[in-house]
Amino acid sequence: MNLIFSSVDVFKVISVDNQADYINIYVQSRQRICLCLNCCEPSTKLHSYYTRKFNDLPTFGKACKIFLRSRKFYCLTDECPLKIFTERYEDHFKPCRRTTKRLEEKLLDTVLELGGKPGERICRHFSITVSDTTLLRLVNRAPLPEPGNFTAIGVDDWAYKKRERYGSILVDLTTRRVVDLLPDREEKSLIIWLRKQPKLEVITRDRYGKYRRAATKGAPQAIQVTDRWHLLKNLGEALTKMMTREYTRLTRSLAPKIEESPVEIPDELPVREKEVATTGIIR
Ligand SMILES: [Zn+2]
Repeated sequence: MNLIFSSVDVFKVISVDNQADYINIYVQSRQRICLCLNCCEPSTKLHSYYTRKFNDLPTFGKACKIFLRSRKFYCLTDECPLKIFTERYEDHFKPCRRTTKRLEEKLLDTVLELGGKPGERICRHFSITVSDTTLLRLVNRAPLPEPGNFTAIGVDDWAYKKRERYGSILVDLTTRRVVDLLPDREEKSLIIWLRKQPKLEVITRDRYGKYRRAATKGAPQAIQVTDRWHLLKNLGEALTKMMTREYTRLTRSLAPKIEESPVEIPDELPVREKEVATTGIIR
C-alpha cells in the first residue's frame, strides 16, 4: 500500500493484477463518512459506486493503471440543493481527468523541458503512452506563475499574429523565464502590471515611447535600461547609415572632374544676341 500511496492517504488497495507488461491496481476509499461538496456536512448514506480508470506512473518499468471504486453519497441536509454528491480525492485524482495528479505533474515537467514530439518519444521509453497533443494541452492548461516580487524585468512586444495583433511579453531577468503576457502594447496595461511590483529595480526595454512612459509612471523607482539586443540593433543601423553617407561622399570626391568646354559664338551674330549668348542675361 505504502508503495502506491502514503500512509496518510485514504485509500486501500483491494487487489493488484500484475501482468508481463502492465499492472492494474484496484483501490477504494477507507473513509466511512464524506463531506458534502456544497454544505460541507458529513454524510454516511451511500448512493452508489462507479469505477474510474486512471493512468499512473509506471511501476517496476510496467505501465500502470489505477481503478478507483468511487462513491456517491446522499446529502443529509434538507436545505442543501445538492442531493447527491461524488466523493472527491483532489490530492491524487482530479475530476474529469484520466491521469493521476502525480503522473500529470511529471508529464508537464517533461513537455516543458522537451516539447511535444520529443516528450512523447521519451514517455514511450518509460512505458507511458501519451500523445504530443495531450502533452501540449497540459501546457495550455497549466496556470501561469503568480506575479511575484521581481527585481529585474524585461519588456518587449510579441505577435499574436504578425503585422496584425501584438501584445507585451514580460520576462524575469533573474530566472530568464516568461512571467506574463499582456494582451496589448498599451501604456495603461503595463502601468497596472508594474504597480504590483514594489521591489522592481531594473526594467529593460526598447525605445518604444509607450513602454518608456509606462516604466516611468508604473515603476518610478526602477532604472530603465535599453536592452542589449535593441542597443546593438540601433548601433548597427547608425553605423550602416554613417558608412553609406561617407561612402557616397568619398565616391563623389574621388570621381574625375569633367571640364566644361567654352561655347563658341559665331562672329556673324548681332551684338545683342552675342551678349545674351555670352552672359545668359536678357535685357
Ligand atoms: Zn449538502
